[in-house]
Amino acid sequence: MLDCSGDRNSVPFFDEQRAFTYLVDQCEFGPRVPNSPGHRQCKEYLYQQLSATSTRVNRQDFTYYDTTAGDNLLLTNLIASYNVENKNRILLCAHWDTRPWADNDPDSSRHREPVLGANDGASGVAVLLEIANGFKDAPPPLGIDIVFFDGEDYGMTGTTTGWLLGSKFFTRNIGSYRPYFVVLSDMVGDADLNIYKEHYSQVYAGWLVSLIWEAARRENAEHFYPEIRHTVYDDHVPFLELGIPAADLIDMDYKWWHTVEDTPDKCSPASLREVGRVVLRVIYDEGLRGQK
Ligand code: ZN
Repeated sequence: MLDCSGDRNSVPFFDEQRAFTYLVDQCEFGPRVPNSPGHRQCKEYLYQQLSATSTRVNRQDFTYYDTTAGDNLLLTNLIASYNVENKNRILLCAHWDTRPWADNDPDSSRHREPVLGANDGASGVAVLLEIANGFKDAPPPLGIDIVFFDGEDYGMTGTTTGWLLGSKFFTRNIGSYRPYFVVLSDMVGDADLNIYKEHYSQVYAGWLVSLIWEAARRENAEHFYPEIRHTVYDDHVPFLELGIPAADLIDMDYKWWHTVEDTPDKCSPASLREVGRVVLRVIYDEGLRGQK
């Protein structure tokens, strides 16, 4: 039975400055490239942050053999659950790793340098950490699982191998767990925010995209646009392949994507807030209505 008690409109406060602090904190570890010191340190940081809001935080450790480096990558998905006894669940996710190669940098001599990932990595995580703070103030009306995927950005451009390592591992081991839907936040911190509907999300989970954009309309989220613009092979795809509705909130019009210039000064607290408010609105309003 779904418990619909409580005020449908009690969307908790989203503190954009605190969210931005989470973004900066992650960047201060340096690039979070698998097997690097920054990656190890940030993993501990994220575990501690999630433990501050959830009594159930799991580390899902796995390895991936990187043929190029001839080495095993030590990877970890972090999973925090809220309202654990509620069987009706929504999964919110972001990737926390950053790209080892800035292969879209205009300066080709820097293509082998890692990406700091203020937007591509830290922003989605920052939004979800701040959303989790809201759960302390106003318990969510359904069960929520927040998952930070590792190894999203390890693929070679032009191929489909090496990407989405964390979400692929998670879905391969998903067992009987079936969230009602999945909302992915990726590159949501650009100060010049442009969120267009993503093609795979629209084709395979159109009702969920409509639900999110309806929430965006009610939040007056002026940087959510109704057009479909990009097709993105992102962490929502393994869920769609399982038949689990999933939508990708992503700003692919980010000038510093996969460059060494993906730094916190390109991002803004207001952008984190806009996306955070929309996701919260989906959970507290539409999540309930969508159950029926
Ligand atoms: Zn990326």
